[in-house]
Amino acid sequence: MDGTMMDFPLTLTPMLERAGKLFPEVEIVTRLPDKSLHRHSFVDFHRRATQLASALEAAGLKRGERVATIMWNSYAHLEIYFGVPCSGGVLHTLNFRLHENDIAFIANHAEDRFLIVDDVLLPIYEKIKDKVSFERVFVVPLSGAPIPDGLENYEDFLASGPDGYSFPELDENAACGMCYTSGTTGKPKGVAYSHRAMVLHTFCAGLPDIVGLSQCDVVLPVVPMFHANAWGLAYLAVMVGSKIAFPGPHMDADSLLELCEAEQVTLAAGVPTIWIGILQALENDASRWKLHPDFRTVVGGSALPESMIRDFDKHGITTIHAWGMTELTPLGTLSRLKRGMEGMSEDARYDVRAKQGMPVPYVEARVVDDNGEAPWDGKSMGEFQVRGPWVAANYYNSEEGQDKWTDDGWFGTGDVVTMDAEGYVKITDRTKDLIKSGGEWISSVDLENALMGHASVREAAVIAVAHEKWTERPLAVIVAAEGADVNAASLNDFLSQNFAKWWLPDAYEVVEEIPRTSTGKFLKTALREKFADRYAGQ
Ligand code: ADP
Repeated sequence: MDGTMMDFPLTLTPMLERAGKLFPEVEIVTRLPDKSLHRHSFVDFHRRATQLASALEAAGLKRGERVATIMWNSYAHLEIYFGVPCSGGVLHTLNFRLHENDIAFIANHAEDRFLIVDDVLLPIYEKIKDKVSFERVFVVPLSGAPIPDGLENYEDFLASGPDGYSFPELDENAACGMCYTSGTTGKPKGVAYSHRAMVLHTFCAGLPDIVGLSQCDVVLPVVPMFHANAWGLAYLAVMVGSKIAFPGPHMDADSLLELCEAEQVTLAAGVPTIWIGILQALENDASRWKLHPDFRTVVGGSALPESMIRDFDKHGITTIHAWGMTELTPLGTLSRLKRGMEGMSEDARYDVRAKQGMPVPYVEARVVDDNGEAPWDGKSMGEFQVRGPWVAANYYNSEEGQDKWTDDGWFGTGDVVTMDAEGYVKITDRTKDLIKSGGEWISSVDLENALMGHASVREAAVIAVAHEKWTERPLAVIVAAEGADVNAASLNDFLSQNFAKWWLPDAYEVVEEIPRTSTGKFLKTALREKFADRYAGQ
């Protein structure tokens, strides 16, 4: 006897089975297209996920084969999040906000066998159907509209699953899911998640100093379930047995606030764009909604400006800044104050909270510049590199992009950061978005965050434009706050309080809207194209 533990595979199945047994009454609420609320509980969720697994097996889905979804966040998506992987299949959530050619490319590249699609999203399927070859397409009757010929009703498919199904034993290193990065340059690249990675990621996310979730919580995943596994929230909610509220297709600020009030949501998570809208609604009239006193939010996907953290605090809502990537399942760092930091000055505390935070347990981190590993001194900039049990080892069936992994086994994130002595990471930029002026680097993210703290600015994106003398200079593209006038001189005065003169944007452009990627990040390539000519030759 060697005296160690059982070899018990870390798969998603025990998470599902336990939730069905221990939390049968816990509710899962979904906003349907007609705005009514669909309610059922974990016992229904468990039954339906099991039925789905049974139906998939009867339909001949083999181990490792992909089932794609084009779906909103809903009770059906949650059961698919478990039914597919626990039957041995691989859940491939398609990002339906991408261009139709990209969606088709991704579905073909992943060789998805079946597709499950919400009836309200059928127009997207219509656009791709001639470019893809799903063997069967199941339609979730979310709105109850008639199902077109040739497609099958998901409910009938579910009901066809033979009784008496039991889940297969699975290898913890087998894939449970797949996501593609949106690939603003080059082709989208796939990441396959193992059961083991997903389970460990869920445990980590649940820690009180990380996302922190308990069965007493009510969680609202605003982040789409197609975006990096909804940041792990769906699995986490099922693991701990917390009530879940799904927004369905209603993602506007008023609808989300209504849902938060109606279900007394305690934790919501999403990208900054969503929170900008919510903040605006609260600033207009906070008395419209009676939110839970402990309501808190996890915000990530792009930088959370410090001014937003302060503004939400005024409304009694704590925002927690997190950083992640599709390649990291996605959680990498998260900002919470360490013991003792409560005693720092208010400004210093906000400064820490606005950073992307400390690496979470088991995500090892380093900063690498041209000279090798850079010190954690809060000043030395370099590429953020990570390794850990839920960091991808490669891209799925792709030659392109494999150079992101170093010879000594780290993943290069492409984010340029500093790390301070306490271990807090601060993202300066994406490598490709840094502005090189007169041989020195200017951080577009720092300028954006500062500008968004000015009363006349709703949103700000800063890009590099070519400059004869300085190589590149910053241009700020601004969306004005409601009814405000944007004045370049006063914005530059405002920035001069914190930035050297040579950092100040050479020009400001006011636009109605800043173009965004499918996952809510500023689409800087589009801005650069739009403004390149206007500033050429300066
Ligand atoms: P997609 O491009 O498909 O949205 P990801 O969600 O994986 O892909 O994007 C990951 C990238 O998003 C990171 O490398 C980083 O540049 C950016 N990002 C994520 N969270 C933050 C954050 N809190 N602050 C700044 N940038 C972030």
